[in-house]
Amino acid sequence: MLQAWLAAPRTLTLRDAPTPEPDAGEVVARVRLALTCGTDLKTYRRGHAKLPFGLFGHEGAGEVVALGAGVEHLQVGQRVTWLPTAPCGACFACRRGRFNLCRNLFERVVLGSYAEYLKINARVTRVHVFPLEGLSDLRGAFVEPLACVLHAWRLLEPLPGKIVAILGAGAMAYLHLMEAKARGCHTIVAARRPERLEFARALGADETLEFDQLHTLRERTDGGADVVIEATGAKAVWELAPELAAPGGKVLLYSGLAKGETVQVLAERWHYDELTLLGSFHFTTQDAQQALQRLRQQEFAVERLITDTRPLSDLTQVFEALDRGEGIKYAIVP
Ligand SMILES: [Zn+2]
Ligand SMILES: [Zn+2]
Repeated sequence: MLQAWLAAPRTLTLRDAPTPEPDAGEVVARVRLALTCGTDLKTYRRGHAKLPFGLFGHEGAGEVVALGAGVEHLQVGQRVTWLPTAPCGACFACRRGRFNLCRNLFERVVLGSYAEYLKINARVTRVHVFPLEGLSDLRGAFVEPLACVLHAWRLLEPLPGKIVAILGAGAMAYLHLMEAKARGCHTIVAARRPERLEFARALGADETLEFDQLHTLRERTDGGADVVIEATGAKAVWELAPELAAPGGKVLLYSGLAKGETVQVLAERWHYDELTLLGSFHFTTQDAQQALQRLRQQEFAVERLITDTRPLSDLTQVFEALDRGEGIKYAIVP
């Protein structure tokens, strides 16, 4: 079978590999569709602190073609999606119910959705393979990225108000926009590129702002946004985000910075304006189930985020395009 292999930064090839066989507790899926993701692009450009080089891709949907011994909750022929990780259930974080913070999350990660077949390990098979039951492959493949977004929204609750400012205009920022709209919030999207702002308006953003106009946001909103979502992963934007929040507002720091990076926050605003600064990471089973529910609502139009659908044989060109900043999210079909 054909399988993508990322040997080092910007060294992506397609190779011939044996079709995997499931061991006890595992399943093998024939990949029907995989999605590109900002995490993949980060890994492609410079490697990833938590993810190894080698097998590549973590979002997708497929059909179960083989079951390992003891797998009784899934069937051959079922269309499914999967998450790349599952919690160990035994560590410090898991014992406290903070499953997205499991200390052993990345010791067994399912990578390799850019391939014709994918082996899903026993830990993930047990809890994080979801039958699609009527959902399209594309919608199913959105369970993972949307679960990350919905995890963040769970942390934001209770929402302090209705004005939500989203800084950034990548796929994750747009998913935040769609969730904010689904909850009836007034949305303001800020980004650098005019065409990305135009797309945000097409997706229903109430207002858009160029980055160099961000300093006007507190004035425009008569005090600031109730919720500011940082979705760029840039240090300068992390530092700016608390400046844009209303008194009593919440700042969601969604996109991670590089290891060792530090940021400055104006202590006066943090303390006297009672700002809440929230980090958000990954997802739990509950978040994935909520994502499945959201994706059953046809008006939650994730299809619009797909720049193009390309065959697996085009994967290298797709990542070269993403590397140049072209396109939001691609669907890859083996
Ligand atoms: Zn992803
Ligand atoms: Zn754990």
